[in-house]
Amino acid sequence: MKKLIVMIILSLLLIAACQSEEGDGEKRTVGIAMPTQSSERWVDDGNNMVDMFEDLGYETNLQYAEDVVENQLSQIENMITQGVDILVIASIDGEALTDVLDQAQNLDIPVIAYDRLIMNHEHVSYYATFDNFQVGVLQGEYIEEQLALDESEESYNIELFAGSPDDNNAYFFWDGAMSVLQPYIDEGKLIVRSGQTDFSQGATLRWSGSEAQERMDNLLSAHYSDEDIDVVYSPFDGISLGIVSSLKAVGYGTDSRPLPLITGQDAERSSIRSIVEGEQTQTIFKDTRLLAEQAVEMARAVIENEEPEVNDTETYDNNEKIVPSYLIEPVSVDIDNYEEVLIESGYYDEDEIH
Ligand code: BGC
Repeated sequence: MKKLIVMIILSLLLIAACQSEEGDGEKRTVGIAMPTQSSERWVDDGNNMVDMFEDLGYETNLQYAEDVVENQLSQIENMITQGVDILVIASIDGEALTDVLDQAQNLDIPVIAYDRLIMNHEHVSYYATFDNFQVGVLQGEYIEEQLALDESEESYNIELFAGSPDDNNAYFFWDGAMSVLQPYIDEGKLIVRSGQTDFSQGATLRWSGSEAQERMDNLLSAHYSDEDIDVVYSPFDGISLGIVSSLKAVGYGTDSRPLPLITGQDAERSSIRSIVEGEQTQTIFKDTRLLAEQAVEMARAVIENEEPEVNDTETYDNNEKIVPSYLIEPVSVDIDNYEEVLIESGYYDEDEIH
């Protein structure tokens, strides 16, 4: 009996080992193209995937393109030339990958879109992401709840920032947030003194914190010399910190002139520190461990000719097809729950924040 069990275990181990190898015993390689290391979340995403793929016995080629589209294109071309078995891509510009995806398609290299949808190409096999509309809803609801907008008769001054117009996610965040905020803007409970209420007016190319800071400087000097601003809707932590700097530079952040409520996204360490210091107000935690796990499992299944698990086959139309997707739930975080959500869960160590 013991011998039988040992033999079964040995053969299972052998099968597992063979799965990550080609017929000739060569290990399979995964090309991972990430947008930038300037935002912590992508560094965590990349590291998590490398660890998980390596645990499964795959080799990885992880590249960051520092938000330069041409870098990302040549990194992906190189991965294709080196003969990777699958590509996992978080795009910089979701509409710029047509040529490299043609190349991948010609060589039958499957492509998984990671976090950001790749647009205008049929050769996107699967999409692993968060519920991006829900991210915006959570940000909008946070503002609604903190100001008790549905009950109160007060009105508040708000300005609106959007993400990068070349990132499909940016529209989902905006639409989700506006699904909550627009009725209050229409009713006059939220007043946008700049009048800049369209996505295109609030858009921030490449999610740049310094661009956001500059726009905030301009908004403050043009529209808030006689009244204070109460709320800033920001879709991303990097943008939120740019906004905080701009506000502090003109004297916000004191007892007599507190900073406005400022939302964010990604629960980056620097923003959690800012929340603890009472500057940024809220963020959205997207557990990059879960996303990496999902993408790695998708890639493994595709390589093994299995059907990966998806939970959404309706939402993500890339103009060529509806890409089968797996969506993970985002979580709203502020001063009241950051310890439980981020530290007690083991996502961050206490000393990374304090
Ligand atoms: C991601 C966000 C991130 C933003 C800026 C989006 O595509 O979904 O998590 O805040 O890019 O990096």
